[in-house]
Amino acid sequence: MAVHIYTSKEVAKIMEAGMIAFETHMRLREYIRPGVSTAELDEIAREFIYSRRAIPAFLGLYNFPASICTCVNDAVVHGLPNRKTILRPGDIISIDLGVGYNGYYADTAWTWPVGEVSAEARKLITVTQQCLFKGIAEARVENRIGAIGEAVQKHAEANGFSVVRQLVGHGIGRSIHEEPQVPNYGRRKDGIKIRAGMVLAIEPMVNAGTHDVYTDSDQWTVRTKDGKWSAHFEHTVAITSQGPVICTLPKGANVNVFQLMGLEVAGVNQ
Ligand code: MG
Repeated sequence: MAVHIYTSKEVAKIMEAGMIAFETHMRLREYIRPGVSTAELDEIAREFIYSRRAIPAFLGLYNFPASICTCVNDAVVHGLPNRKTILRPGDIISIDLGVGYNGYYADTAWTWPVGEVSAEARKLITVTQQCLFKGIAEARVENRIGAIGEAVQKHAEANGFSVVRQLVGHGIGRSIHEEPQVPNYGRRKDGIKIRAGMVLAIEPMVNAGTHDVYTDSDQWTVRTKDGKWSAHFEHTVAITSQGPVICTLPKGANVNVFQLMGLEVAGVNQ
């Protein structure tokens, strides 16, 4: 399948979807605390997205029965929200969500601490978010797709973590999953050339232990094989000749994402 090249008008529409997706994360952030179930978070997200006259893109995608993916601690991606999973102090939760708006899509994931978390968990969250921004910085027309994965993998491994191999980022735009695949590992010389007009969902999944994963008996939730924790961040990124533009953060705003999350970056090998 060919890689779509989007016009600036189309990118503007993807950004509209991206802003609703960002606002959904910010709404969910208010509810991420001990005692809330992942099913409740799913309902809050669904109602919010519909209130903006948008569509929760994951609902029904490959028959997924919820609007967001919720992954607690050792869960990596595709976590199925449910009433039994109730957040406890010290947990971490990643929330991945897609939004469709006027025929265009955006996809974004954040990982949050629940109350006070361990130093190791804070480091995992911080490094994973840094991996995402290091990957985004390589999403430029002079590079190949492999430059993104190389940057992500180097930073994760320099900090003693591993990157998941079985799941990758992807193109996005008129549908939620498009070509090309965007691995979080590899070498700069790998993959196709990055071109202006590509829109990529870049989404490092970083594990504290082994990169190996398996699928839970719920048929959806992907977990680490060794039970160690995992974090996941994702932005939808439009490639322009001037560089990457993040469609799932407020445009031009100086968003200090680490401050927003109450995270310090001390003790991280940058
Ligand atoms: Mg994605």
